[in-house]
Amino acid sequence: MAFENFKESMLSWGKRGTAGATIAGRITFENVSRMFSGVHVINNVSLDIAPGEIVCLLGPSGCGKTTLLRLAAGIERPDHGRILLNDQEVSGPNKFVLPEKRSVGLMFQDFALFPHLRILDNVTYGLQSLNRQEAKQVAKAILERVGLSSYAEDFPHILSGGEQQRIALARAIAPRPSILLMDEPFSGLDPRLRESMRTETLAILRETRSTCIIVTHQPEEAIRMGDRIVIMNKGRIIQSANSKDLYYKPRNLFVARMLSGMNELNYAVVNGQIETPLGALDAGHIETGTDVIVAIRHSDIRLTQSPQAQIGRVLTHQFLGDMSLLELAVHGFDLPLLARLRRDEAALPGQEIRVTLDANAPLIFAADQDHINLGAGA
Ligand code: ATP
Repeated sequence: MAFENFKESMLSWGKRGTAGATIAGRITFENVSRMFSGVHVINNVSLDIAPGEIVCLLGPSGCGKTTLLRLAAGIERPDHGRILLNDQEVSGPNKFVLPEKRSVGLMFQDFALFPHLRILDNVTYGLQSLNRQEAKQVAKAILERVGLSSYAEDFPHILSGGEQQRIALARAIAPRPSILLMDEPFSGLDPRLRESMRTETLAILRETRSTCIIVTHQPEEAIRMGDRIVIMNKGRIIQSANSKDLYYKPRNLFVARMLSGMNELNYAVVNGQIETPLGALDAGHIETGTDVIVAIRHSDIRLTQSPQAQIGRVLTHQFLGDMSLLELAVHGFDLPLLARLRRDEAALPGQEIRVTLDANAPLIFAADQDHINLGAGA
C-alpha cells in the first residue's frame, strides 16, 4: 500500500464510529519446517489463511503453535519451506523480510505494556510512520473503541488485568496490520472476563476485517473464535476444518479427544455391525474381524426412563456447576462410563439408572491405524 493511502486508512480510525477496516492479508505456509537441537518442532506445515479469516491453532503444550506464530512474524526463520504474505515470499531460501517490515501485529500472552509510558503512548508506540499528532488521533480513536479513552493519560499499573489486555489489543490493532497474531491472548484472565474479552475481540476483528491467527489451549475458545481450527501435534497439522466438521468428523481419535472427553471402547466388527451393550452400531463397509475403537463423548450419554434401555448404577457424582460428571457402572461394560450431564438430568451415587446414547454418537476409529475415522456421525 502506498504510504499516503496507508496514512489515510490509519487516520480514518478517528473518523468512523467503528474500528474501521484493515487491508486484510493472506498468509501462506508452504512445507515449512523448523528444527531445534535436531528435533522437528515444525514439520512440513502447509497452511493457507485467506484475507479476513480467523484461524485458531489448537494442540497440546509443546506441539509448535507458538513457533508457527514466531515464524509468521519473522522472529524465527524456517529451515525449510517458504512463508508468503499476500503471495510475496517473506521467509524462504531466497528472501527474509524483517519482522518490522511485514505489517504483522503481535499480541502475546504476557502482553507487556510499557510501564513507564502513558496508555496513549503505549498505543502510539506502534504508529511510528505517522507524525505525533496523527498517531495521537489514531490512538485516541482506538482507545475509544475499546472503551478506555478516559485512561489515555494514566499509566498502565492503575488498570485491571482485563483493561490492560484491552490496551494491548488496541496497541496491536492500531497500526492496522494485515495479519494479527495472538498467542493465548486471554489466558491470564478470569473466566468471566475471558468471555467478555473474547466477544469484544471478535467484534473488533470482524469490524476491522483482520486476518488473525490465535494460539489457544482451550477447545471452547477455538470453537468460539475460529472460522477454522487447525489441530496440531508434534509439529504437524493433524486436521484443519471448521468447528462443526472437526466435532462431527474428526480425522482421528487425537482430534476427537482435543474437542471432547471420550469413553474409548475396543470392539471387533462382525457382519457389518459392532455389538455394544448400548445396542448394535452400523459398521458400514468395515470388514468382519477389524478391530475398532468406539468413542462415545461424555456429553453423548443420556439417562432415560425407557425400560428397554441398558441398566446401570451411579458410582460417583462430581458437581461441576451447570454440569455434573458421573461415573456409571453399566451392565455389559468392563469399565465405568463417564457421562457429562446437565445438573437437573444427573442422578446420585448408588442410584439405579438406565442409559442411552445421543443420536450422533458414537465415533468409530480403526484400532490399528487411528488416523482413519471409519464412521463418524454426520
Ligand atoms: P505451549 O502451548 O506450551 O505454549 P507450543 O505448542 O506453543 O506450546 P512451542 O512454544 O512452539 O510450543 O514449542 C515447541 C517445542 O519447541 C517445545 O518443545 C519447545 O521447548 C521447543 N522450542 C521452542 N523454541 C525453542 C528455542 N528457541 N530453542 C530450543 N527449543 C525451542
